[in-house]
Amino acid sequence: MKADVIVVGGGIVGAACAAELALRGLTVEVLEARGIGGGATAAGMGHIVVMNDSPAEFALAHASRELWLALGPQLRERDAFSRCGTLWIAEDDEELDAARTMRDAFAMAGVRAHMLDRVALRESEPSISHAMQGGLLIDDDAIVYAPAAAQWLLTCSTRIRVSTGCAVRAVDADDTHASVTLANGDRRTAAHVVIANGLAAPDLIADVPLEAKKGHLLITDRYPGTIHHQVLELGYIKSAHHARGTSVAFNAQPRPTGQVLIGSSRQFGTLDPAVEIDVLAAMLARATRYLPGIGALNAIRAWTGFRAATPDGLPLIGPARFPGDRLWLAAGHEGLGVTTSLGTAKLIAAQMFGEPVPFDMPDTHAFSPQRFAREHADG
Ligand SMILES: Cc1cc2nc3c(=O)[nH]c(=O)nc-3n(C[C@H](O)[C@H](O)[C@H](O)COP(=O)(O)OP(=O)(O)OC[C@H]3O[C@@H](n4cnc5c(N)ncnc54)[C@H](O)[C@@H]3O)c2cc1C
Repeated sequence: MKADVIVVGGGIVGAACAAELALRGLTVEVLEARGIGGGATAAGMGHIVVMNDSPAEFALAHASRELWLALGPQLRERDAFSRCGTLWIAEDDEELDAARTMRDAFAMAGVRAHMLDRVALRESEPSISHAMQGGLLIDDDAIVYAPAAAQWLLTCSTRIRVSTGCAVRAVDADDTHASVTLANGDRRTAAHVVIANGLAAPDLIADVPLEAKKGHLLITDRYPGTIHHQVLELGYIKSAHHARGTSVAFNAQPRPTGQVLIGSSRQFGTLDPAVEIDVLAAMLARATRYLPGIGALNAIRAWTGFRAATPDGLPLIGPARFPGDRLWLAAGHEGLGVTTSLGTAKLIAAQMFGEPVPFDMPDTHAFSPQRFAREHADG
């Protein structure tokens, strides 16, 4: 059977694209070099979170979170979907002000968010340091075990065929069809090819501006009830935007198993997957400031992963080389790709079918892969 669409990459983004295109009646072949969900998708935290760093990111994250909330009840226990909410912790008055600004922006956009004072914070998360001044609770944020969810998405339609251990070496397209060449030399054609191979996208499309941002995570043994929400320091937003160097920020997640998943770090200029003890130590020192009891918990595993970052922090979603191209890019989601995978799939499908953007977007070109080519051309 020749598929209508070939999707390169079986991470959460490729899986979401395959599921959406199949839902629209297309046959889809997913070609994955290794195993499903084994790339950045397996390394991440799976926090489904509305971020409002830019209007475009907010629109995509918000729409995507709503899609996850609709999907949640269908997911299996092993997908570990939980609507635990996000609690942003304010350490001082300046951060409380930042939290209020965030609450106001969310309220205007219809995102449920409310301030917690010191007392309410203590009641809501007794393990958080009593030195903290308050917080901002985003009720409807969630978490999911993304590698399992990627597998689920790929089994939700009989129109999807998956080949693992199947690396794509090259892609090509003309006016009538698109094609891929596999590592073993075989060639497959389809009407469209979606390139969703994460950090490896530049191997297939020249000049895709992606940079690796390394991250460390650590998971503890089971300590049910230690925390109840995904808790982050408000300074996380600053850390996430560091353009250079190494930064750490407190970010902790209550796994449905009772384990606590602790992050996070950001590093540039390395592709070495080794756990670095100094970075891990800095991350845990930061976490101890917010969660003083953390030192009493047994850690059972630490690991690293690589976020695929673009120069402006927004993903690449659209025709890969020029408008009307049969090659499509869905990559560069940095630290938000689990959240934004479902919205990305809707955007790819809408563009492929020539439909308007499926949700409220201030700038429809914000995710266009050509935005960087345009910058170069303009000098
Ligand atoms: C430490 C860390 C924490 C994170 N936390 C969060 C979070 O809390 N919330 C959130 O929303 N996001 C988070 N992220 C980001 C999120 O994990 C990624 O944005 C997302 O998983 C990217 O998915 P993807 O499908 O684009 O890429 P990947 O998961 O990397 O998938 C790409 C796939 O393509 C395959 N591939 C590569 N080359 C080829 C080829 N030539 N042929 C065939 N297949 C190929 C790979 O094997 C891989 O399986 C985090 C990331 C990290 C590293």
